[in-house]
Amino acid sequence: MSSTVPTRADLAALPSYVPGRTVPGAIKLASNEVPGGPLPSVREAISQAATQVNRYPDMGAWALVDRLATELGLPADRVAVGGGSVMLCQQLVQAMCGPGDDVLFAWRSFEAYPILIQIANAHAVTVPLDATHTHDLDAMAAAVTPRTRLLFVCNPNNPTGTAVRRDALTRFLDAVPPEVLVVLDEAYREFVTDDEVPDGLALAEERPNVAVLRTFSKAYGLAGLRVGYAVAPPEVTTALRKVYVPFSVNAVAQAAAIASLDAKDELLARCRDIVSERTRVRDALLAAGYVVPETQANFVWLPLGDRATEFAEHALASKVVVRPFAGDGVRVTIGTPEENDVFLDAARSFQQRE
Ligand code: PMP
Repeated sequence: MSSTVPTRADLAALPSYVPGRTVPGAIKLASNEVPGGPLPSVREAISQAATQVNRYPDMGAWALVDRLATELGLPADRVAVGGGSVMLCQQLVQAMCGPGDDVLFAWRSFEAYPILIQIANAHAVTVPLDATHTHDLDAMAAAVTPRTRLLFVCNPNNPTGTAVRRDALTRFLDAVPPEVLVVLDEAYREFVTDDEVPDGLALAEERPNVAVLRTFSKAYGLAGLRVGYAVAPPEVTTALRKVYVPFSVNAVAQAAAIASLDAKDELLARCRDIVSERTRVRDALLAAGYVVPETQANFVWLPLGDRATEFAEHALASKVVVRPFAGDGVRVTIGTPEENDVFLDAARSFQQRE
């Protein structure tokens, strides 16, 4: 039966978000998840919260907001939570932009940005990454116009892993007009080891037009529960709460996020293991002849251009799922040492067959 109801005409041209594939029996290095499952204390909090899911969650997630505010040394009115930081990206676009307003971001970057912007009837303006696969902040500052309302800087950048440093980011923030909100998307912040990559929270503290996005999906290992947070000026967090779809951060996610903050030290120690694997994987790829930009995230980027899809197919034949971006490159998440070894064997055999 075909429907008699018209849906929005422009949705036909809207690209769909492509998630990393899960292939039974294969190692998944395609979604920048951490390989370790929830700690026993987090599982316990999840089980406890599950006993009460006949009730709606706390709509404002206030216990989590308060806990984050204490953790970060900020007033609670500067913190907002959302159903994953991707939902906060959407809330930010909805809260800041009317139809036709410009949202500026680098490309290639997080692929949800252009989709969310189009859904909100705002207008995406992209600035290419530079030759080192890093944000070209000077070009981005030059691209700001009176129509620009919002700017995303993904730091470290997904999918390239590259990060912008303090000098460049400070110069950029000085150049952006104060009425443009700069969103520092720091989904991978906990994997940053370069001291020159600034902590966005410190910048947000000093500047009234900066917001920071963080997530429990990556370092904190709660991707399946969907919870993230924003730190922003109070006027912006108020607007984020206005556009929040009621109850979108569920009760189990709220409890698990708080339990994860309780277990922060242990979870961040796991991140350090991933970071040392990141160095090992990148070094092995460089030794095998690949170009691999320096990465500050829990993944590496292989700018393989036209060979990206072929590389991903070759890896899949070796039972490893990676994330190809056709015609551009392949993003590979850092997994366990054993998983990484299987991937590295696949990467070496790809080079050898050429
Ligand atoms: N920002 C960036 C840069 C990401 O890579 C992702 C996830 N891939 C997100 C935001 C969204 O993550 P989540 O919604 O799981 O918090």
